[in-house]
Amino acid sequence: MTATDFPKTDQNRIRRLAKRGAYDRETIYPIVDAAQVCHVAFVHEGQPVVIPTIHAREDDTIYLHGAPASRLLKVVAAGAPLCVAVTHLDGLVVARSLFNSSMNYRSAVLFGHGRLLETSEEKLHALEVISEHLLPGRWAEARPTTTTELNATAVVAIEIETGSAKVRTGGPVDDEEDYSLPIWAGVIPLQVHALTPEPDSRLAPGIPVPDYLLGR
Ligand SMILES: Cc1cc2nc3c(=O)[nH]c(=O)nc-3n(C[C@H](O)[C@H](O)[C@H](O)COP(=O)(O)OP(=O)(O)OC[C@H]3O[C@@H](n4cnc5c(N)ncnc54)[C@H](O)[C@@H]3O)c2cc1C
Repeated sequence: MTATDFPKTDQNRIRRLAKRGAYDRETIYPIVDAAQVCHVAFVHEGQPVVIPTIHAREDDTIYLHGAPASRLLKVVAAGAPLCVAVTHLDGLVVARSLFNSSMNYRSAVLFGHGRLLETSEEKLHALEVISEHLLPGRWAEARPTTTTELNATAVVAIEIETGSAKVRTGGPVDDEEDYSLPIWAGVIPLQVHALTPEPDSRLAPGIPVPDYLLGR
């Protein structure tokens, strides 16, 4: 274990295929940062709930934002125990048997508690982190957020207390006797990538797509 590792506890220890598990921030945080959305789980009035939402990470903090009336943000602001999950699907692993077929993936599961950001400075900072996470360069070009808009936005910070990553890479691992079968096997890689930006129908004339939005 290094200084950047989360200690392995009953909460974050991976049981099945533990060799695919990791507990260091250097493995976990790039998985979190590569995602535009996460899923936040909490228990509300005895009912487990999972809600998808935009997120951004800074150090050991995850920022979320939304309408002040959002149940998710209210629950986070109230300090309820939270679990945040992020998953990237990198490929379908096609083995010679269905039993040995699998997926290549990078996933992270984090645990923590949240708090409401109260000051305009804190909120604006978190909103900039979220904006720059999704569209680096946009914060500087977009019309600045007004006080009315800021008041209409709740922003919460979740302190990451512990977490883990689980990653699968590579080809199928078949039963030895299956390798000679006349059945195709391999990996179908999967990737999310942006297509050509589509201008808004009301875009003022003569405005090209900014470089920072291209090739994302
Ligand atoms: C990609 C993505 C990004 C999002 N980003 C944000 C964000 O940054 N901030 C934000 O506030 N919200 C975001 N949302 C919306 C978010 O998922 C919730 O819908 C939102 O928090 C509103 O919740 P609520 O308080 O109205 O409903 P809740 O009281 O939380 O939910 C009530 C019920 O509505 C249903 N429900 C709520 N949300 C969804 C959903 N997304 N899909 C299906 N059923 C649902 C569920 O049955 C839930 O139990 C995002 C959603 C998606 C899919």
